[in-house]
Amino acid sequence: MLHDRFQIKFWGVRGSIPCPGALTVRYGGNTSCVEMQVGGERLIFDGGTGLRMLGQSLLSEYPIKAHLFFTHSHWDHIQGFPFFVPAFKKGNEFKIYAAPSPNGATMKQRLHDQMLHPNFPVPLQVMQSRLEFYDLEIGETLKIGDLTVETGRLNHPGEATGYRIQWQGLTATYITDTEHFPDRLDEVVLRLTRQADVMIIDATYTDEEYHDPKSSKVGWGHSTWQEAVKIAKASGVKQLVLFHHDPGHDDDFLDSLGEQASQAFPCTILAREGLSIELAKD
Ligand SMILES: [Zn+2]
Ligand SMILES: [Zn+2]
Repeated sequence: MLHDRFQIKFWGVRGSIPCPGALTVRYGGNTSCVEMQVGGERLIFDGGTGLRMLGQSLLSEYPIKAHLFFTHSHWDHIQGFPFFVPAFKKGNEFKIYAAPSPNGATMKQRLHDQMLHPNFPVPLQVMQSRLEFYDLEIGETLKIGDLTVETGRLNHPGEATGYRIQWQGLTATYITDTEHFPDRLDEVVLRLTRQADVMIIDATYTDEEYHDPKSSKVGWGHSTWQEAVKIAKASGVKQLVLFHHDPGHDDDFLDSLGEQASQAFPCTILAREGLSIELAKD
């Protein structure tokens, strides 16, 4: 555990569905999961299939305490949870944060349902770690030690929660599964990303794909790298991290997408599995 540092590690960077294979080796095929070690706390954002590998990496550490934040419960954000081995081990402790869905279903209920027979052979109750669920009210600000976590409602079918994490003057944001508006920048996203050192944001599509008259993605709940650049510029962000890659975008496609995005906003990188970013005080 890193105590006097703010480090981000990417364990899953895809949206929609895992896409392992020869054409996605360099960026990775697992779905959304990002770890932040901040001031002695471990924060995990989303439980896509990348969470399984994060769990494997933690097996040598015991006991584990972590805060697990969910944006929402579409499959690509919860599918790794039943395979998160540390959750099965007594002595580990996880605090799980998520907003109830608009119909009132809590994350506890949704993770439980995901593991019910006949969907899955092992029910949630078999997990021996201490799982403490916290129902977020979107818009509230949490304090965890000397960390601050701000939240905001994202524009996505069934809603999603965006997060802004601040510690000792350093800021990272995790904003995925959000669609931009046609006529204005999203004020919630602008609030969460203001002056951020690192902005991780949904850039599932290109503008061309989004507006493709034969297969429009309007209303699907995702954004484009061009819109991410607009937010980065408007918010004075230091580093833009494009995230939640479309499973149809192979390594070569993402390489060229990254080159175009860097021309529009020089401090741009594409999230890829295994990537670590260290936030530094200057
Ligand atoms: Zn997603
Ligand atoms: Zn979603």
